[in-house]
Amino acid sequence: MRIVVLAGGIGGARFLQGVRAFAGAGVEVTAVVNVGDDVTLHGLRICPDLDSVMYTLGGGADAKRGWGRAGETWAVKQELAAYGAEPAWFGLGDRDTATHLVRTRMLDAGYPLSAVTEALCARWRPGVRLLPATDERLETHVVVADPEQRAIHFQEWWIRYHAELPAQRFVFVGAQAAKPAPGVVDAITNADIVLLAPSNPVVSIAPILAVAGLREALVAGPAPVVGVSPIIDGAPVRGMADRCLAAISVPCTAAGVGELYGARSAGGVLDGWLVDSADAKTEVPGVAVRDTPLWMRDESATVSMVRAALDLSGVRVD
Ligand code: GDP
Ligand code: CA
Repeated sequence: MRIVVLAGGIGGARFLQGVRAFAGAGVEVTAVVNVGDDVTLHGLRICPDLDSVMYTLGGGADAKRGWGRAGETWAVKQELAAYGAEPAWFGLGDRDTATHLVRTRMLDAGYPLSAVTEALCARWRPGVRLLPATDERLETHVVVADPEQRAIHFQEWWIRYHAELPAQRFVFVGAQAAKPAPGVVDAITNADIVLLAPSNPVVSIAPILAVAGLREALVAGPAPVVGVSPIIDGAPVRGMADRCLAAISVPCTAAGVGELYGARSAGGVLDGWLVDSADAKTEVPGVAVRDTPLWMRDESATVSMVRAALDLSGVRVD
């Protein structure tokens, strides 16, 4: 039994905690993680979504803040600011910096990101296989029109501007030339089920699907594809997905995101769409919709969600 999950950072990580509960005893879990948020700052290669998943599943995440390391301190950030070293808006923690140093050194030595991720996971033991969507450069840029039209890195838009600069569109720079990382297409092709985590559809799931050949592998694969709605009762729960959806004129509703993904039978990717009980009336043409509570309050609530997603596809795991 093989479960593949496409995931972003915080929402993806929480969801994967629930999926991991099914791992072991013949069930293998592979997470294909967004790299569109990755950025080089102060000479360090930073992979926010891979790190969110790795720290969360490895028990090293700051649960309250939602991102970064537990027990974090900020001396490096303060010292950089004292030098006037830009950018100052990124939350670079001391413990986190060690991860970025190891990663950057390995990348500089010629290891691909997938191998670096595996090496970092030897410490964190996340209990699922973590694969970057691609080893190649893929960066999400945001086209803004303030004061004149320009493209900025997603991180600058998200963190520095709090997603408040109206976005005209998102560009996944490098996606068309990128290949899926080693193991990604095999995992999808050999999966018994593929789950889309309740991650940001616009800047977490879309850049994964934009990697050349990845979406095609998903659509052509034998496994049912079930998405889990990141929108509950018209609200993005945590984060600013509403601002991303507004930029591409998609309603911030479970139906809006379901239709954005679309039915596999009609050029989209979904066979099933799991929505919250508050959205029980949701319909997406060509897609089997089911409802269940989707608040990831704790691990047991998340496990129930995952079970509902597996049930929806008819896949049985005991
Ligand atoms: P990021 O990369 O750190 O922004 O994280 P993701 O893209 O993986 O997930 C962020 C999204 O998760 C948010 O936009 C929310 O829509 C969604 N989300 C967060 N918490 C919950 C939850 O408890 N339930 C559901 N259904 N969605 C959630
Ligand atoms: Ca992210």
